[in-house]
Parts: sequence; C-alpha cells; structure tokens
Amino acid sequence: MATEFSKDFLPEWCERCDKQGIYFVDDTASPYLVVHNKCGHEALSAWCSKCQTGFALPIKSSEQPSFWTCPTCNTKYPLSDSVLKAPINLYLEEDLPEDVRARILPPKSKYAFGINTAVWIVVALVILYTIFK
Ligand SMILES: [Zn+2]
Ligand SMILES: [Zn+2]
Repeated sequence: MATEFSKDFLPEWCERCDKQGIYFVDDTASPYLVVHNKCGHEALSAWCSKCQTGFALPIKSSEQPSFWTCPTCNTKYPLSDSVLKAPINLYLEEDLPEDVRARILPPKSKYAFGINTAVWIVVALVILYTIFK
C-alpha cells in the first residue's frame, strides 16, 4: 500500500521544537507550506531555480502571502493560494514509524561501529607489530 511515507522526503528543522523533522511530498521542486501540527511551526519550503537551492522560509499562512522572495538572489516567485490551503505535515524523526525511520535515515550507528572497529584493528596491529618486531 502506498502511503505518504513512500513519497520523496526532505528534511526540515523544526525551530520551535528544536528538532530535526522530515516531510513527504510528490514533487520536491514545488513550494510547500510545511506545518508541524504539534507545535504550530510553519515554514514555506521553496526551491529557487536560479540559485538551484532550497529554502525553508518563515511565513505566516494567516497573512496569505501571494509571493515569496529568494533570500539569496531576491527573485520574487508567485505563491498560489492552493499551496497555503494544502499544508504538508512535518514529522519529527522520533515520531516516524520505526520501519520508515530505518528506510530514510542514514544508518549512523552501523557506520560509527564500522569506523570504531577499523580503528581498533589498526591499534591492535600496531601493538602486535611493536611487540613482535
Ligand atoms: Zn515542532
Ligand atoms: Zn535565488
């Protein structure tokens, strides 16, 4: 079954919760109003085609802005009403189902374990070399 979790995902920092969040969309180049329901944080997730950069811009959807401005190159882009009327839910990493989290987050702990193991092997080899040379 296709759920929203099977769409493309983008990270966004929730400033109110001060935690990493993730949201799921069909087309990552379109602007989205991203809202974290738990705390009310909202931001406009927008892509500047000139700068080839994505931004999370603070906006007040209640003020119904009709455009957004790229903070880097100052290009104005129209913002359609439908964007503001269809907010995308922001999930904190910790609120995602376990299987979704496992799929989309980099396996940090595994990687760290790999590096640690490699370091210990090198240390052990150096010790052995020192003893037996
Ligand atoms: Zn939040
Ligand atoms: Zn720009």
